[in-house]
Amino acid sequence: MKSYQVIGNGLPLEEVISDKPTPKGKEVLIKTIACGVCHSDVHIHDGYFDVGNDKKMASRLVQPLAMGHEIYGELVETGEDVHGVEIGKKYVVYPWIGCGDCKECENDMEHYCGPFTAQNLGVSVNGGHAEYVLVKDARYLFDAGDTPEELAGSYACRGLTAYSALKKADLKSGQNNLVIIGAGGLGLLALKIAKAAFNIQPIVVDIDDQKLQAAKKAGAREVINSKNEGASEKIIELTNGSAGAVIDFVGSESSVNFGYKLFGFTKGGQYILVGLLGGQFNLQLPLHTFTARTISGTYVGSLKEMGELMELVRSGKIDPVQVESRHISQATDTLRDLKNGDIPGMVCLKH
Ligand SMILES: [Zn+2]
Ligand SMILES: [Zn+2]
Repeated sequence: MKSYQVIGNGLPLEEVISDKPTPKGKEVLIKTIACGVCHSDVHIHDGYFDVGNDKKMASRLVQPLAMGHEIYGELVETGEDVHGVEIGKKYVVYPWIGCGDCKECENDMEHYCGPFTAQNLGVSVNGGHAEYVLVKDARYLFDAGDTPEELAGSYACRGLTAYSALKKADLKSGQNNLVIIGAGGLGLLALKIAKAAFNIQPIVVDIDDQKLQAAKKAGAREVINSKNEGASEKIIELTNGSAGAVIDFVGSESSVNFGYKLFGFTKGGQYILVGLLGGQFNLQLPLHTFTARTISGTYVGSLKEMGELMELVRSGKIDPVQVESRHISQATDTLRDLKNGDIPGMVCLKH
């Protein structure tokens, strides 16, 4: 089988020919159809995260590695102990697989399994940049209903991340003070999931008018360019005095500095940090304390949340997001384009 592997930080991916894996026991083999490319692929490939003040934090890179964790493919072979799935059927694969042996894994929180024990597809073991992906159990496979094959895999990372972030924001149906920062692929997915799952039309913020137009078209109640004068005052007006929750899909110094102010002096604001663009943030401690505010980080989502999300997906309630598709041999260029901000929406690689 053919795969495109990371052989060193920032280096072009290498085309590698190797044997097709054979599933044993509970394992299943997926033939990759399409694999979404998300910003964490850029960080994995680069090998670091920007932590501000010109400092970098290394991300753990297993080399060589076929990245790709937004996997959609056809089930082609199963081990002898596999039941309840159909050969020839297409599935989305939950990639945040743990060791199965630690406290987190035993409490159905395997996406929290440690960096040295986790077996995340496309991060710590080979993923969808390979023609075939070995998955250790059929319970990680999800039916995506009528979802376009370019989009389906993205529910396993960006969709799931958005869904889990929305759940952490403690939303009430119809509430009008949810603010989403970042109108890229993840922000757009979050917007559509917010509408479908929580009956909420968020206000969407970005610095790119073209992306904001896409968000408006996708159903944002209002779109705001944070570079414009009076942007935060406008949001405070639209939310009747204060944002209730801000979900930040950018995660940069400027996005947090902008978003954190949107609560004013209102108590109980929830700031959910998702994006990993990087940097640092100075917190005025007394303000944070007396406004009883919460800043939480969120990382992908649990297998249970994946089940909930895929039920919503199959019900057809979430409007599909447009996804550009490219051939897998363009993986290196696609990572570069994504890093440079040259991809307006979402992109996947097809085999
Ligand atoms: Zn574990
Ligand atoms: Zn991802």
